[in-house]
Amino acid sequence: MFAHTFTISTLFIGFIFSNPIVSPGGDGINYELLGGGIEGDMILPDGFDPKREFDGKGVAIFGPRRWPNNIIPYDISAITNAGQRTMIESAMKILSDAVSTPIAGSTSRKPCVTFRPKISTDQVFVKIQYGTGCSASVGYSSGARTLTLQNSGCFRSGTIQHELIHVLGFYHEQSRPDRDLYVTVNHNNIEIGKEHNFNKYTWGSTVLDQKSPYDFGSIMHYSSTSFSANGLPTITPKQAGAIIGQRDQVSAIDINEIRQFYSCTI
Ligand SMILES: [Zn+2]
Repeated sequence: MFAHTFTISTLFIGFIFSNPIVSPGGDGINYELLGGGIEGDMILPDGFDPKREFDGKGVAIFGPRRWPNNIIPYDISAITNAGQRTMIESAMKILSDAVSTPIAGSTSRKPCVTFRPKISTDQVFVKIQYGTGCSASVGYSSGARTLTLQNSGCFRSGTIQHELIHVLGFYHEQSRPDRDLYVTVNHNNIEIGKEHNFNKYTWGSTVLDQKSPYDFGSIMHYSSTSFSANGLPTITPKQAGAIIGQRDQVSAIDINEIRQFYSCTI
């Protein structure tokens, strides 16, 4: 998993394929690719130029992008549907529980990251809102942070957790500098104008090297047909039988990376 943000404004109407990232409604559309940001669903911090700063190693966004005190305040007031608010806050709990630390001799756990409703003194917070596609700001930064969910296509726990992990400061797994050792990017199948979504970053200037192995099972990995022009794979794992693009739950490596980034080692 990688740390950062963006989105691409593209209509994928009619873009039908079978992969694990499609919407809960079963319409075959990957709403993560519609969010209008870099790599479809990531909104980068102000002043963060991925073209200039590309070239690093790791998963987490480079720079002071961790949320202070590991607390992520959010404003969910724009989500008017109570069931959807419940789903979002449940996804937050699932994710925060997954990365929390067991306490010996106790059934409770020590939090690693905490999502909580914003209070009046919070200067920086995540505004959760409806919009086109699914997208999120990558990492902590000054200014408005957003998490956008399309009403019809993004309300699935794994998809919301994916966007929340962007908020924590992570990029897509296949943007790792070493990804060509593990996957083949099939440039001939990429939709014209979308090639930049398959850029790699650079350890130490764009992304941190957290020494984690390449993770086909990351909830932050693209599916095989993301940004496909013809329905054929744009990304093919080099490891036989490897499955990419799951949006069910964070992987063990995802958990370790979040815990490292937020210094939740004990
Ligand atoms: Zn994403």
